[in-house]
Amino acid sequence: MKYIFVTGGVVSSLGKGLAAAALGTLLEHRGLRVIMQKFDPYLNVDPGTMSPFQHGEVYVLSDGAETDLDLGHYERFTSCVLSRANNVTSGQVYETVLAKERRGDYLGKTVQVIPHVTDEIKGRIQRLAKEESGDVIITEIGGTTGDIEGLPFLEAIRQFQLEVGPENVVIMHVTLVPFIKAAGELKTKPSQQSIAKLREIGLQPHVLLCRTEKPLVLEVRQKLALFCNVPLHAVVEVRDVDHTIYELPLTLQDEKLDDTVCRLLRLDTPSAQMTEWRRFVQRVVTPRKSLKVAVVGKYVGLQDAYKSIYESLTHAGAANDCGIEIMRIDAEDLEGTEPGNTLGTVAGIIVPGGFGDRGVEGKITACKYAREKRLPYLGLCLGMQAATIEFARNVCGLKGANSTEFEEHTPHPVICLLDDQKEVRMKGASMRLGSWPTDIVPGTLAEKIYGKLQIIERHRHRYEFNLKYKEAMEEKGFAVCGTSPNARLVELIELRDHPWFVACQYHPEFLSKPNAPHPLFRGFIAACLASSE
Ligand code: GLN
Repeated sequence: MKYIFVTGGVVSSLGKGLAAAALGTLLEHRGLRVIMQKFDPYLNVDPGTMSPFQHGEVYVLSDGAETDLDLGHYERFTSCVLSRANNVTSGQVYETVLAKERRGDYLGKTVQVIPHVTDEIKGRIQRLAKEESGDVIITEIGGTTGDIEGLPFLEAIRQFQLEVGPENVVIMHVTLVPFIKAAGELKTKPSQQSIAKLREIGLQPHVLLCRTEKPLVLEVRQKLALFCNVPLHAVVEVRDVDHTIYELPLTLQDEKLDDTVCRLLRLDTPSAQMTEWRRFVQRVVTPRKSLKVAVVGKYVGLQDAYKSIYESLTHAGAANDCGIEIMRIDAEDLEGTEPGNTLGTVAGIIVPGGFGDRGVEGKITACKYAREKRLPYLGLCLGMQAATIEFARNVCGLKGANSTEFEEHTPHPVICLLDDQKEVRMKGASMRLGSWPTDIVPGTLAEKIYGKLQIIERHRHRYEFNLKYKEAMEEKGFAVCGTSPNARLVELIELRDHPWFVACQYHPEFLSKPNAPHPLFRGFIAACLASSE
């Protein structure tokens, strides 16, 4: 097994996760089996309890782990199947160490960061290496070099490198080379200092990934190589991609990053054939058609809150040869206004997941607009609950219908907690999470979209459709078109007298890939195209 560690310096948000994922793409295309892992130095056990303002999207894995959104990049850019073990936080490490201490496993010793915490961190890499078959593990360390909470992870890597042999480890440092306008120059000093910080800990990066706005001219590369102690060919330029993040593997290949890494690790593999990938990028960059789709949510101002949804739209657009302009609409802006003023120009509407009552009435307004104007609608989790509430209120005449999440004593709790969730007191990892099967009702639009009758999709929610209302709603044209195999949980609904109104209790956005768009997103875009012709 070979090990690649990805660290970051100078500032956060340099796209370390994407860089790690894109390197994963290239190595896979060289025939290697790649395993991806992320270490997050914060103390939360997982990001599940964090606000999207803090953390962006929570990415849910098949086993129900609530993880960092970089794991979404890993799954989209590689064929890796990730689990709980692939995202490790300081919270988890300390939880384990403290539980061992309470059990008496440390036999009277003083429990310390070195060696006990660092041993636990190394153990998390070793276990992954043992349990999964692969050739290379790429482990990304969250945060920025110099963060106090990141130190144990860097120290663990220092020890690890000695244990497995330096010839089996590559450290790739992602850094910023800023352009200072007044001087008209690219500056290497921040990178020098962040590498000096790493060397203080005993880590010497082998490869520098330099984020920059301007081309890294030879002179700058030479300076970086000299001061940061890396060979010239290991100074890699990464400028912002022109159109789509999926260009990144191609950019890195042009810079021969994968050649450099494979040489360092003594991996003798053919070069990567990126024809299929390049074709996908081409379809994203130069589509023949285009359309506008609204995403009506609560966190539309944040780049990262609906990441997987935006990516799924890109995949579905490429499959339909269609560029997609996403109109991000703050749900609260639709409250008490004429929705046509905002939604008048869109070809379809998506309402994403969410928690808490802020903006819910705006989302319900968007559902009503899509239903009445016969616009394609895709509801995701809360988006299904909002569509259910809207239909109950405005078509079935159930005045005041709501979810008990938003109004505990609503006269018509069409969405409510089931008994098992009523007992739950702890917030962390206590929702219905991860992969669950859904049986699709034959003869429905859902069957046409999926082309099969049983699917498995990922969940993250507490509330469920209230079956007491199923019959009354179905009489009026609402259709439950997918349920859990025991038929107790409603997973998928559609409207009978509407060209394309589909909503699911699960999160299909976690299963879409560049060359394998999710059927619901692909179908939604196809319906938007059909209805705007
Ligand atoms: N708040 C809703 C629930 O808990 C929806 C959750 C979601 O959209 N992920 O059921």
